[in-house]
Amino acid sequence: MKKNILIIPGDGIGQEVTTWGKQVLSRIAEKYNHEFVFDEAIMGHTAIEATGNPLPDETLEKAKASDAILFGAIGHAKYDNDPSAKVRPEQGLLKIRKELGLYANLRPILLFDELLDASSLKPEVLRGTDILFFRELTGDVYFGEKNRNEDNTFASDLMNYHRYEVERITRKAYDAARTRNKKLCSVDKANVLETSRLWREVVQEIAKEFPDVETEHMFIDNAAMQLVKNPKKFDVVLTANLFGDILTDEASQIAGSMGMLASASIGDGTGFFEPIHGSAHDIAGQNKANPLASILSAALMLDIAFGLQDEAKEVTNAVAETLKAGWRTGDIANADTASDKILGTEEMGAKVLEFL
Ligand code: ATP
Ligand code: MG
Repeated sequence: MKKNILIIPGDGIGQEVTTWGKQVLSRIAEKYNHEFVFDEAIMGHTAIEATGNPLPDETLEKAKASDAILFGAIGHAKYDNDPSAKVRPEQGLLKIRKELGLYANLRPILLFDELLDASSLKPEVLRGTDILFFRELTGDVYFGEKNRNEDNTFASDLMNYHRYEVERITRKAYDAARTRNKKLCSVDKANVLETSRLWREVVQEIAKEFPDVETEHMFIDNAAMQLVKNPKKFDVVLTANLFGDILTDEASQIAGSMGMLASASIGDGTGFFEPIHGSAHDIAGQNKANPLASILSAALMLDIAFGLQDEAKEVTNAVAETLKAGWRTGDIANADTASDKILGTEEMGAKVLEFL
C-alpha cells in the first residue's frame, strides 16, 4: 500500500514525540512492505516565528494533498499570559480542522493492565475498560450565535445542530461499533434540550440501518456518573460537541496520564491524528515527554485512515510489551518503579521500536 503522510510536529514536546510516531510508521512500512512517503510542515508558534502565520499556505496545501496527518501539539507559554495576542497558535489548528472538513473527533480510552495503578480509580473498576468516543466537532454552542447585552446583565450562546451533522457522525460511530463489540451508547440531554431531541431522533433512525448493533441512549448527567462508577459498561460512545468535550476529559483520567492517549479527527477528507496532550512547555526540550501517545496516534492512523488493523494491533502490542517489561516515562512511573526503569523520550521510543 502506498500512502503520503504529512508530519506536523508543531511546538514544544510535539517536536520531541512526533518523531517516534513517525519512526514507528516507518518500521511498520518496512515490515509489511508498504510504501509510506513522508513530508513535514510547520504550524503553531513555530510557524508564527518563521512566517508570521500559524498555518502557512504551504502547510495547508500539503495537508490537503496527503492521505493522513500525524500532528504533535501547538502552543507556547507566552500566549497564556497574553490573551489578547491577535495572532495565536490555536488559530492554525481551528483553521486546518475547518479546511479539512473534520467533523468527528475519536478518542479511544485504551487501558493497559500495567498502568492500572496510574489512575485515581480502583483497578477492579478499571480492568478491561476499552471505550471509543465519537465527539461531534462542527456544531453545538461553540459555533452558535453569541450575545451579550450592553449593561452586561445578560449573555447567551445558541446551541444548534443540523440533521446532516448528526447523521454523518452517527453513521461513522455505527460503522466503528460494527468492527468492535456491536454496542453503541448515544449521550444527550433529550429531557431538556431540543437539539438533543433531534439528536436522539436521528440516532434512532440510523440505528435501524444497523440492527446488529445494540443501541442505548443515556442522559449526559448519568453518563458522567457511570463513566467513573462502571467504565466497562461503555464501548462506542457517541455524543455532541460540548458533552464530548467534558466527557472525554473525564475519561482521560481513567487511563492515568495524558501522555498515553491518542485521538483522531476525521471527516470526508484527510484525517488528522494527534496525542490529546498539548505542547507542555514545562517539560519541553528535557527528554522527559512520554512518546507513547504519539506512537498510539500512529497506530490509530494505520487502523482508521488506512484500514490496516493488523499493523495497528502490532503497534499497540509493542507498547503493551514495553510496559510489561517495566519501562516507564516519568509521568507513568509510580513509587515502586525502579529508577533504572524510568526512561527519557528517546529511550522509551527506542524500546517500542525494539519490540516492534
Ligand atoms: P497546551 O497549552 O499546548 O495545552 P500545556 O502546557 O497546557 O500545553 P498539556 O499538554 O495540556 O500542557 O499538559 C499538561 C501537563 O501534563 C504538562 O504540563 C505536562 O507536565 C504533562 N504532560 C502532558 N503531556 C505529557 C507527556 N506526553 N509526557 C509527560 N507529561 C506530559
Ligand atoms: Mg493544556
